[in-house]
Amino acid sequence: MRKLLYLLLLLSISNLSFPQNSDEEVIRDIFDNVLLSDVAYNNLDYLCEYAPGRLLGSEESVIAVNFMKEYFENLGADNVFLQEFSTPAWKCNSTEVSFLVAEKEVKLRADALGPSLSTPENGLLADVIEVQSLDEVKTLGVENIKGKIVFYNRPVNLKLVNTFSVYSSAIDQRYYGPRVAAEMGAVGVLVRSVGTRIDTFPHTGSTGFKDIKIPCAAISTVDANLLSTAMEKENGVKVKMKIDAEYFEQINTYNLIADIKGSEFPDEYIIVAGHIDSWFNSPGAHDDGVGCVQAADVLRIFKELGLNNRRSIRAIMYMDEELFQSGANAYLKYSEDNSINNYLALEADAGGFTPEGFSIDASDSIVNLISKYYELLEPYGINYIKKGGSGVDIGPLKQLGVPLMGYRTDPQRYMDLHHSAYDTFDKVHIRELQLGSGNMAAIIYLIDKYGL
Ligand SMILES: [Zn+2]
Repeated sequence: MRKLLYLLLLLSISNLSFPQNSDEEVIRDIFDNVLLSDVAYNNLDYLCEYAPGRLLGSEESVIAVNFMKEYFENLGADNVFLQEFSTPAWKCNSTEVSFLVAEKEVKLRADALGPSLSTPENGLLADVIEVQSLDEVKTLGVENIKGKIVFYNRPVNLKLVNTFSVYSSAIDQRYYGPRVAAEMGAVGVLVRSVGTRIDTFPHTGSTGFKDIKIPCAAISTVDANLLSTAMEKENGVKVKMKIDAEYFEQINTYNLIADIKGSEFPDEYIIVAGHIDSWFNSPGAHDDGVGCVQAADVLRIFKELGLNNRRSIRAIMYMDEELFQSGANAYLKYSEDNSINNYLALEADAGGFTPEGFSIDASDSIVNLISKYYELLEPYGINYIKKGGSGVDIGPLKQLGVPLMGYRTDPQRYMDLHHSAYDTFDKVHIRELQLGSGNMAAIIYLIDKYGL
């Protein structure tokens, strides 16, 4: 009996002195779990099928938030709640655009930009003027622009390697084009879709009006070429626009927040985020259903593996990244009002393709510290951890001094589908999705374990 007690005592002591699993082992466990899990993939399937076009204020946005809320509750997250706030909203009911030439009407594939003004009920018919830049509109001036529909048709610069740079090369036309044209007296604006393909999908997006709002829409690149060619061949081409949209001064909506409590520092929050809204014309698979289900998967991985996080891990499904970024500002305000200690925030909103790396918007010392984890993640497809941007939703937290990070994937296909009906579930590959969840969970594990 004494011998047995001694043996038990010895065993319990040696148990205590067993080394903790190495980081390599824990990360291997994370990927062993995630590469056999279809949970995130199935969640994405649901969002795309039952809640496509989930712009803020839409019924679909409510379906999406409720679905993910139930998911977190079933997962056994310690704290799941809707963070309510009010914001303006906008809704597009329909967009019809055509051009008229030699008594023929040719329909164009178009989607209104948000928050476009509606046209009169019977539409708007006007002469069209094609331009290549904002400066051209300013130079043409009121005398040449007034009463016309301005057609911005400068293509993106495809020679750039990163497609986010390709996007930036023409995005001024969409974001500022309607504002500049309105100031010159234009009655409407068409914008060539900002995307990497010549195809028939219009890519919508937000536009930044100042004082005057006018109807405005994106047309597909195929249709932009068609209109431009028609204008080259014939004089007197007119464009007809019919947009039915509604603007709401104030609606109530919410961010979805789910926490798993930290064992040592429960009041310090490591945020992992995506945005739950998508444009009205899009299932929003890559933008940003993927980011949401990956962020949600990080919590699942921590729960299932019992990773015993020291700090609380907080998943945020932000509302309204696309139109007014009201969810981002609402969480900032919530953090300030409640003195929330946001320790670090990581956002996934750059597509769910093959992993590339993490970019960090923080001090050099934090960047140096986190980039040391590169070697541990390199076997799982991470090519870099370096200084860079983070995400639109977590961006406002920078003013509170919160270190920010963005998860990056191979960008080559992202601008094919961004903000369009082409961004469907089948464009997401399960293994690429899983590797994203795994790498996000792994880097959060390391940041939580070693601190900043
Ligand atoms: Zn997005």
